[in-house]
Amino acid sequence: MNDMFEKLDCSPQDRLIDRSNRHLNYLRVSITDRCNLNCKYCLPFSCHSKQSHHDILRYEELLHLIRIFRDLGISKIRITGGEPLVRKDIIPFLSQLHEINGIDDLAMTTNGLLLQDHLVKIKSAGIRRLNISLDSLNPENYHRITGHDVFQKVWEGILAAEKMGFYPIKINVVALRGINDHELIDMARLSLSHPFHIRFIEYMPIGDSTLQLEKPLFTPEILEQISTLGELYPVERGKMDGPARRFRFKNAKGEIGFISPISRHFCRTCNRLRLTAGGFLRTCLLSDHQTDLKTPLRSGFSDQQVADVILSAIRQKPTSHDLNSKQAGQIASPMSAIGG
Ligand code: SAM
Repeated sequence: MNDMFEKLDCSPQDRLIDRSNRHLNYLRVSITDRCNLNCKYCLPFSCHSKQSHHDILRYEELLHLIRIFRDLGISKIRITGGEPLVRKDIIPFLSQLHEINGIDDLAMTTNGLLLQDHLVKIKSAGIRRLNISLDSLNPENYHRITGHDVFQKVWEGILAAEKMGFYPIKINVVALRGINDHELIDMARLSLSHPFHIRFIEYMPIGDSTLQLEKPLFTPEILEQISTLGELYPVERGKMDGPARRFRFKNAKGEIGFISPISRHFCRTCNRLRLTAGGFLRTCLLSDHQTDLKTPLRSGFSDQQVADVILSAIRQKPTSHDLNSKQAGQIASPMSAIGG
């Protein structure tokens, strides 16, 4: 399949190394901006102007771009959204993605609502690693946060994924003061009895979400709370590790991780790029700057020319985000449009 694509004329220095000498090998691909939940911290207040089908990259366009990224040095792909499982015909797309040589790591982030219906097919399409968002273990609170009374279905999907041997299953918990902070210990406790990696994520105030928090909740405070469950032992970092600082309780089946984009940002080691469903490349999650790849692709640019557009965007990747110095809402794009 790869023979269909012209070989890119790429010398090693053209590869995805940015001006801060960061080696970018990880691409997050949002395949839709639509979602079947309305998480109050994620969706925009002004409600979602969904993109038309024409504006969204077709699967063959996504695969084409991903091959170009692969030729430039991307080896790790995460499929996200909106909610990726709401997009029609995702399974054949995942299978084709899995067949692309050079992509060593293929994962998906989902809210889990449609997981049970898709698990067998997702597994046979080559996905082994899942991130599932779960901000509450209490059905009523889950309903309040997501706008949908579907906790049980999501939870059953998570247990079914565990039973089918997906590993690791990372449970993403965005820590929100006054909303789920009373549940963080229960979430952490899950790691004792299940092989889940519970990842506490600091809320990033971007887009015009409906959320009004009186005070942010940062990792040191979360860590202090859940340390009441027992001593946390650091887990050695793996080669493919992301920004999470990882720990484990004694004899626990799973792990605890902290992702602290605000209190301890990890820009210096950021290896990520993001492709939005509308075909824009974002080199920093916390910057509104984006580069159009869809127009060059649709106007018949060669792979080399598209690669040149990508390389020139990479050169502009911000050294560091400045969210700490900005007011909430100054990053206009909602997370639901970028993919997290
Ligand atoms: N629909 C999928 C899901 O719910 O996992 C994938 C898309 S969602 C945008 C990806 C991740 O971004 C989720 O884990 C979500 O909790 C996280 N997220 C969304 N808005 C956020 C925010 N403002 N701050 C921190 N994390 C956020």
